[in-house]
Formats: sequence, structure tokens, C-alpha cells
Amino acid sequence: MALILDGKALSAKIRESLKEEVAALAAGGTVPGLAVVLVGDDPASKIYVNNKKKGCKKLGIHSEEYLLAASITQRELLELVDMLNKKPDIDGVLVQLPLPGHIDERAVIRAIAPDKDVDAFHPENVGRMVAGDPLFLPCTPAGVMELLREAGVSPAGKECVVVGRSNIVGKPQAMLLLHEHGTVTICHSKTKNLAEVCARADILVAAVGKPRLITAGMVKEGAVVIDVGMNRLPDGSLCGDVDFDAVEPKASCITPVPGGVGPMTITMLLKNTVKAAALRAKKKGR
Ligand code: NDP
Repeated sequence: MALILDGKALSAKIRESLKEEVAALAAGGTVPGLAVVLVGDDPASKIYVNNKKKGCKKLGIHSEEYLLAASITQRELLELVDMLNKKPDIDGVLVQLPLPGHIDERAVIRAIAPDKDVDAFHPENVGRMVAGDPLFLPCTPAGVMELLREAGVSPAGKECVVVGRSNIVGKPQAMLLLHEHGTVTICHSKTKNLAEVCARADILVAAVGKPRLITAGMVKEGAVVIDVGMNRLPDGSLCGDVDFDAVEPKASCITPVPGGVGPMTITMLLKNTVKAAALRAKKKGR
């Protein structure tokens, strides 16, 4: 039977220590602040934004929500980002993706001040992460690394296969595994013999968005299996990219969906916000 990597429990542990950091910062006159911008009324995005707000409140982080109509112009959105960049009580600025088609996502990401870019999507933060000199780490891949660390799994010298190459998950995940000395392969929709490549993995990370794509036949005996996927099924239930019931008996460690990677993502966002506030406090102290 595989060890179940409990993202909820690890999140709770990390959030406890963040709560202490927030209290110490607040006592010194710096209350961490996060601004979340949501454009349009996508139900899934609304849930994420709400969870972020709740997470902030529990830790004592000040949070502000900016709910904008889907019809907002790119210029108006960029003006709001500029205002938040300058707002002294805001340490983190997050624009919930995806944005409506008429808005250039890249332009919006580039407009966020790198030292408030707690999602770590700005090219400067991406570059720093790739160069091994990160200011902030991207939340989902960083959460996966924390789960591995907690389970005592070191990627060093291991065959690591990441399925998915998005800028948000797959690519940065591969880079973080590489920095931990894994031998990394990145797969995508054009990969040939996906099953064979996956079956080589000592650590397999699925970040695809296809319910139960990873079947037992694609997993090596004893592999560590991380499921980033969050797929809503027609019956409303949540399902990962891994066929959990079939894969679990073969794996040495596996993340459940829900309760694995998901809770870690918001925890890493809170961690980045606290870090940004600590940097502000340090600047003030000078
Ligand atoms: P994207 O849609 O941006 O990327 C999906 C990737 O999967 C692409 O690189 C695509 O390849 C690849 N892919 C698609 N089909 C196949 C296939 N049949 N075989 C191999 N590769 C394939 O998704 P994201 O990276 O944003 O998210 C991935 C999943 O993770 C989603 O379910 C999302 O909901 C979830 N997620 C979960 C988070 C969490 O906190 N747990 C946070 C972020 C995302 P190609 O590039 O060739 O198109």
C-alpha cells in the first residue's frame, strides 16, 4: 500500500508557522497584504479567490478583492495593477487566470511589480527561478516539492517524468526537480510512447487536465506519483489525472485528489505573500 501524501495536513502545519511569522511582522508594524483581482464570473475562479481570501483571514493577512466585469478594458485592468503595485499596504498582487480573450494575459503578468508577483509568473521571476536564484517560487510546483520533502523523497539521481508543459505547472515543475538533481523528462500532447516514458519514472508528476489519463500500466512498481490534475466530472465530483484506485497499489507514495497538491498551492501563495511582506519590513528597517 502506498503512503498517501496528505496535502491538507502538511498545509495546516506550514500555515501554523506562517501564522506566527505574520504575528511577528504585524507586531513590528507590517501587516502582510494580498490583493486578488478577478475579471468576470467564472465559477471555478470564484471558488479559488474565495479560498485565497479565507486562507489570508485565518493567518491574519490583510486581503483585498477586486471583482471586475468581464467587459473591463485591458487599459483599465493595467491601471488597477499599477495602483496595486504602488499601494503601500499591499505586498502581493495576484490576477486570477484565465482572463477574457480580449485581454492580453502576458501584458498583465508583465505589469505586476516583480517584488509583488506572488504567483511568480512575471518573466523576471521565471528567469530568476530558472537561474536558481528565485525571489518567489511558483505555487503549485513549490507545493509539490514540499510534499516530496515531507515524505523524505529526494529527486537526486532519480528519473523524474513531468506530464504537461504549461508555464504555470509543467515547465517550472521540471525546473524545480532539476534543481534538486533529478534527471527530468517533460512530456506533452505530442510525446510518442507516453506510457513507456512514464513507466521509467521514479517520480511521476501528472499536470495534464485529463481525468485518469495515467493508468496502472504507465506506472513503475514503487514509483512516487504526484497528481496535480483537478478535473470536474459531469456528476460534479473532482478527479485527478491519475487513476488513483488502480495506481495506488503499485506506487510507494501518491497524492489524492482532492487533498493532495490542491491545498499546497494556496499555502505556497500565502508563504510568498509573507515573504514579500518580510522584504518590505526589511526595507523599512533600513
Ligand atoms: P494546461 O492545459 O495549460 O496544460 C496541460 C498540459 O498537458 C499541456 O502541456 C498539454 O500538452 C499536456 N497534455 C494534454 N493532453 C495530453 C496527453 N494526452 N498526453 C500528454 N500530455 C498532454 O494545464 P495546466 O498546466 O494549467 O493544469 C494541468 C492540470 O492541473 C489541470 O487539471 C488543472 O486544473 C490542474 N491544476 C491544479 C492546480 C492545483 O493547485 N492542484 C494548480 C494548477 C493547475 P501541449 O502543451 O502539447 O498542449
